[in-house]
Amino acid sequence: MRILLSNDDGILAPGLAAMYGAVADMGDVTVAAPDSPQSAAGHAITIRRPLTVHRVEVDGPPGFAGFSVAGRPADCVRLAVRSLMDSPPELVIAGLNAGSNVGINVFYSGTVAAAAEAAMLGLPAVAFSAETVNGETDFPAAARLCRRVLDNLLGAGVGPGELINVNVPLLGEGRPAGVRVAAQSTAGIEDAYHRDVGRDGAESYRLTDDYSFADEQENTDVVALADGYITVTPLHVDMTDRRRLDDLTGRDWSL
Ligand code: MN
Repeated sequence: MRILLSNDDGILAPGLAAMYGAVADMGDVTVAAPDSPQSAAGHAITIRRPLTVHRVEVDGPPGFAGFSVAGRPADCVRLAVRSLMDSPPELVIAGLNAGSNVGINVFYSGTVAAAAEAAMLGLPAVAFSAETVNGETDFPAAARLCRRVLDNLLGAGVGPGELINVNVPLLGEGRPAGVRVAAQSTAGIEDAYHRDVGRDGAESYRLTDDYSFADEQENTDVVALADGYITVTPLHVDMTDRRRLDDLTGRDWSL
């Protein structure tokens, strides 16, 4: 199988190496990842400057060769599919991200965006993220679990343009508790900005690290992950609200 592997934490991220190690035996794995951390890059792409690409050897274990791209996660996937790979991949994997990407965080996530970009290109795509403490986790162990989930997903079939979002809880006693297929939570995020005034009087605000989801919606990725489950969430690139589409289509739009 021809696989494209990308991420948003950058080509040197331990989660990327762990993911590579977990899927290397599946076939021909091409790695194209940002040359610097791009967390919360969302679905940004680079349009006003060229994307510099370096072929790099990343020391292991597991060592791998890859394309280091001076761009965003979505750039890496788009560029790899369009130009860097000899032929399109049959599967695109993003991750393994340092930090979970559940609920509305999927909109900020560069990891999910990398996979979404692949889905937009009509390719089967899976994003993998792992819950961390201060950015640290047992990436190899989490990646091995991701591989098992991936094998199961491929057994079920991941079609062209399909996008699956997988999150692994912090591993430990009784964790993971299992696998839960769950909807994306739409709960709002409670967070705060820290205000500062510089010596020159300039006012600035820094988003603090601590945040929580405003409410717990049942049967969602946020709750299942918090309960210690690996979450599997099929996502749509199509953001159309079908109910409102019918309703608005039925209105008299004569001007
Ligand atoms: Mn990240």
